[in-house]
Amino acid sequence: MNIHEYQAKAILREYGVTTPDGKLARGGAEAAVITRELGGRSVVKAQIHAGGRGKGGGVKFARTPEEASSLYQGMMGMNLVTRQTGPEGRKVQTVYLSAAVDIARELYLGILVDRLTGKVTVLASTEGGVEIEEVAASTPEKIVKVAVDATLGLAGYQARELAFALGLSGETFRKAIPFFQNLYRLFVEKDCSMVEINPLVVTAKGELTALDAKISFDDNALFRHPELVALRDLNEEAPAEIDASNYDLNFIKLDGSIGCMVNGAGLAMATMDIIKHHGSSPANFLDVGGGASEDAVKNAFRIILQDPGVRAVLVNIFGGIMRCDVVAAGVVNAAKEIGVKVPVVVRLEGTNVEEGTRVLTESGLAIQVAKDLADAARKVVASIQ
Ligand code: GDP
Ligand code: MN
Repeated sequence: MNIHEYQAKAILREYGVTTPDGKLARGGAEAAVITRELGGRSVVKAQIHAGGRGKGGGVKFARTPEEASSLYQGMMGMNLVTRQTGPEGRKVQTVYLSAAVDIARELYLGILVDRLTGKVTVLASTEGGVEIEEVAASTPEKIVKVAVDATLGLAGYQARELAFALGLSGETFRKAIPFFQNLYRLFVEKDCSMVEINPLVVTAKGELTALDAKISFDDNALFRHPELVALRDLNEEAPAEIDASNYDLNFIKLDGSIGCMVNGAGLAMATMDIIKHHGSSPANFLDVGGGASEDAVKNAFRIILQDPGVRAVLVNIFGGIMRCDVVAAGVVNAAKEIGVKVPVVVRLEGTNVEEGTRVLTESGLAIQVAKDLADAARKVVASIQ
């Protein structure tokens, strides 16, 4: 789960991590009032769950309260297109005003779980304000990585190593140590999957401050953080993904032609690979998980069919805990209820496969039953050619 910058900054403050003052504005007049409170100037920032806002016109500098008011009005409701939103952009529904900071240096700081080492890893770079992917591609030597031992936490010597790598000195260096350690503590205590401060700024006065903040949480740990669940902004999520999450289904929108219903992420990957191998590409995939009910399967099928990109559907289920007959019944019921206008190919394997196949073939519906995965991929790709 992702949250907005203003929400991330509130959590930083809770953990004693310095970030500029700021407030949400709910109108042009309020934007002027807040800017006055912030010392007469401010940075007007669009709150969307995507980065690269600065270049897209979602971060603007107001030199007076009046200017903040007009910038607010221009930004609220605008369709903001950034490198991360895709060409369709995202509608701005929340605007945050931040105290303006005089920047001496822009640095980068990120914390994530490194899947190769299985350790929480802190990344730091002197190249802040630029997307870290760009730095990694062109000057990877400018990224320093520190892997943290979970039992020790981010040790003092490691925080100092990061501060040295960032070229900090004197008072700024001294303040960086608790800054990094508090941020690490936040990462662990809030079950984050990523915390990114880009840019981390050294101000003209030598203060260290988080000018931007992006936090993602591990969805599997949200059950123990009701305070974080409350921060979820449904405006930022695709309606089909919200629909799916209400049934504990995972729906991912892609840009090809074939809707895929699968169980398990590994099978989803294999299904997408084989569709590509046979010359088409997936419109989406929907993972029904390990033990979905007939009703969940029915909703899964409905959600896939509602995707306007879908020209054919491939159902690929390996029945382990999930029974093939339950899947078949869900598909048949959904097809009867909603009506299916696109070809449907089903490949079932595993528990109760005979019963599942019988339900499909006796349904009277134009569902093609495949004998194996390669056969299924061939059939579904051929159906749209
Ligand atoms: P992003 O483009 O979505 O990553 O949004 P950021 O919050 O990182 O802002 C983009 C850029 O705007 C930063 O890298 C800074 O260069 C600039 N910026 C943001 N806030 C301030 C500020 O208070 N003072 C100055 N001088 N620049 C700022
Ligand atoms: Mn940024």
